Amino acid sequence: MKRFREFINKEVENGIMRYAVTARLVALVRGVYFLGMLILAIVYGRSYVGFLSLAALVGCTIMFYNSYMRCLGKMDFCIDDFLVIVTMFAFSMLLGVDAGVMNLMFPQILLVFALGSYSKNGRYLWIVAMMVTRAVVFEYQKTTAPYYQLGTQERLNLMTLNFVTVCVLLVVVAAVSTKDARQVEQGLISHNSELQNLASIDSLTGLRNRRSISQYLEEKASDYESGKLEGLSVAIGDIDFFKKVNDTYGHDCGDIVLRDLATVFRTFMMGKGTVGRWGGEEFLFVFTNMNGDDASSQLSDLQTVIRNMEFRFRDEQLHLTMTFGLSEYDLHRGIDAVIKEADEKLYMGKERGRNTVIY
Ligand code: GH3
Ligand code: MG
Ligand code: MG
Repeated sequence: MKRFREFINKEVENGIMRYAVTARLVALVRGVYFLGMLILAIVYGRSYVGFLSLAALVGCTIMFYNSYMRCLGKMDFCIDDFLVIVTMFAFSMLLGVDAGVMNLMFPQILLVFALGSYSKNGRYLWIVAMMVTRAVVFEYQKTTAPYYQLGTQERLNLMTLNFVTVCVLLVVVAAVSTKDARQVEQGLISHNSELQNLASIDSLTGLRNRRSISQYLEEKASDYESGKLEGLSVAIGDIDFFKKVNDTYGHDCGDIVLRDLATVFRTFMMGKGTVGRWGGEEFLFVFTNMNGDDASSQLSDLQTVIRNMEFRFRDEQLHLTMTFGLSEYDLHRGIDAVIKEADEKLYMGKERGRNTVIY
């Protein structure tokens, strides 16, 4: 079973895997079908059907080994489809249309599309060829009886074999094709959410980026306006003398400081709102369900946390402070005005000597 699986799934150089697997499975099902036809031919003594089945079996074996021929997508003519039409025609002429051999046309239509061997026009040409063959056989048999006169049991056996083969072929082709489509779809979905994440997350700190925090603030502002929130405050925090950190210890040290601070901010803001990287060494804090006084007291706590933090870089230990500008959201001013006010307050804090919260 394992070896069989390996063979079915064997890589096809420059070909598409799904096509190769479908072609091999289809050749296999057809092989079993022609074997069944051969057995019925022997049982009921139908020599022409027997010869034809044997020839078709050989054809199937070649198709099985040459599955890559169909899958390179370069062929305009497939001997495979040609043989199917010929056998459908010959069997129907020998056994009559009601034996059901012509129904093999249905999975063949699906195959012409699923195997990707033809151009668009090529596909429709084959489908027309199959329909014409079917119509010719029907017309012919309106006036002329088939070569063999079948008994009820023989006809029933043939119909059953054909019906089962058609069903199995349809299931095989549909299952393999849709499996691939489902995988592609799953891949796209996860890829999409990955892209969405990348587009909204700051790569250095892992916090929301400017776009994402702005979007968050817009959502919260509309929640506030519709009465879902009881308060909304916005603060911009900026690291004091951060340039000195870069100049003294290097840019890498500056990056570590930003990352460490971000981790602290993220934890601190849990259940209080959220924080994003506004740019450079500036962070935007959104406090939900808090008026300016509540947020101011929270920021004082945060300042204490930052003041007590010890940043380690190689053998160095450094301490930092931050300045915050805070503004309370209200219905009359828009988001931009609130952010502008927070920014102005931050500037005031810097002017007044830093390490402070201005509200
Ligand atoms: P102030 O107290 O007035 O805010 O002084 P400051 O030195 O913090 O202010 P300034 O705006 O002069 O410097 C900010 C510095 O932040 C300059 C820039 O190189 C640095 N910076 C911005 N983004 C990054 C970053 O992603 N990584 C590192 N390492 N440094 C950054
Ligand atoms: Mg600064
Ligand atoms: Mg700055």
